[in-house]
Amino acid sequence: MIKNNDIMTDTFGRVHTYLRISLIERCNLRCTYCMPEEGVILSPRSHLMTYEEIYTIAKTFVDNGVTKIRLTGGEPLIRKDIPIILKKLSSLSVELSITTNAVTVDKFIDIFKANKLKSINVSLDTLDKEKFKEITRRNDFEKVYNNILLLVSEGFKVKINTVLIKGFNDDEIVDLIQLTKEIPVTIRFIEFMPFDGNKWNMEKMISYKEVMQYVNNSFSKKQVERLQDAPNDTSRNYKIKGYKGSFAIISSVTNPFCNSCNRLRLTADGQLKNCLFSLTESDILSALRAGNSIQPIIQKAVQAKFKIRGGMDTLKKLEEPKLHNQNRSMIAIGG
Ligand code: SAM
Ligand code: SF4
Repeated sequence: MIKNNDIMTDTFGRVHTYLRISLIERCNLRCTYCMPEEGVILSPRSHLMTYEEIYTIAKTFVDNGVTKIRLTGGEPLIRKDIPIILKKLSSLSVELSITTNAVTVDKFIDIFKANKLKSINVSLDTLDKEKFKEITRRNDFEKVYNNILLLVSEGFKVKINTVLIKGFNDDEIVDLIQLTKEIPVTIRFIEFMPFDGNKWNMEKMISYKEVMQYVNNSFSKKQVERLQDAPNDTSRNYKIKGYKGSFAIISSVTNPFCNSCNRLRLTADGQLKNCLFSLTESDILSALRAGNSIQPIIQKAVQAKFKIRGGMDTLKKLEEPKLHNQNRSMIAIGG
C-alpha cells in the first residue's frame, strides 16, 4: 500500500509519525501526580478497544505513515491480553515500544524479545523505598529497581522517567544522575504537568532551569556534555563525561517542544487526542464499530491540532484549573 503522509500533516506542517496507544485505564500503582486518590471513573469494559480493534486502528495509522508506536496506560502490562497485542502489533512495519512502571517486567522479558521490543521506558521517581511508597501509594520499590537492572542486563535500552516535585524528590536529582555512572540508562527528568485531579500548581514544579542549577552545582562545566537530541525528541539530552548512561530533561511546561511534535494519542476507549493537553477528542472506536472509515476522523483531528499545548499557549492558561478539569487524568490519557 502507498503511504499517504498527507492525512498526518497538520496546518503547521508537522507530520505525525508517532502514535501512543493507551491499553488500559487501570494501574497496579497509584502515583499521586497521575491519578486522584479516589481513582478515576473507569470506562465500561465494552467501551475499551479489544486487541483486534487495537490492531485494526494501529494498522490504519501505519498505512498512513506512522513509523513508531508506544504502548502505555494505566499500566499496559496488567492487561491480560498484552502478549497477543504485542504479537499482533509487532507484525506491522513499525518500531514498537512500551512505557511501564516495571512492577511485573520480569515476567515479560521473553515476550518483549520475541516481539522485537528494544526500548523500554520505566517510571521511577525516587531511590528511597519510603518515598516510593509515598508517591505511588504502593510498596514495590525493590521490584521496580531490580526489574530496571534486569532489563539492562538483558540488553534493552532503558529510559527512566522521573517526575520532579518540589520538596519531594528534587534533592535526588544528583543521586539519580550518579546512577548513570555505572548503569547505562537515561534518566529523564520530567516537569510536573497539570491534569484533572492531580492538584498541580506551578510552585510544585521543578523547571528545566532548576534541574540545570542542581547539575551545575555538583559537576563542573567540563564534566557536563550536551548530547545531540534526536529529531522530534521531547527531551534535552546530557551526560556526565565518562559515565555509562545519560540524563535528559523534558520541559513540557516551561519550554514545550510543540514545534517539532509528531505525536498523536489513542486512549484505551478509542478516542484520538491530538495533544496531551487537548480538551477535545475524536471518537475513532465508534466509527470503527459502525463499519465506517476512520481515516477522515484521523485527518480532521490532525487538522484541528493547536500550535502549542492544545491551545494552552501561555503559562497563565496552564495555571487555570478549570481547563484541566475538562481534560482527563494522565492515567486515562496514557502519558
Ligand atoms: N504506568 C506506566 C508508567 O508509569 O510508566 C505508563 C503510564 S504513565 C501515565 C506514563 C508516564 O506519564 C509516566 O512516565 C509518568 O511518570 C508520566 N506522568 C504521569 N502523570 C504525570 C504528570 N502529572 N506530569 C508529568 N508526567 C506524568
Ligand atoms: Fe500507574 Fe504509571 Fe500513573 Fe503511576 S504513572 S499511577 S504507574 S499509570
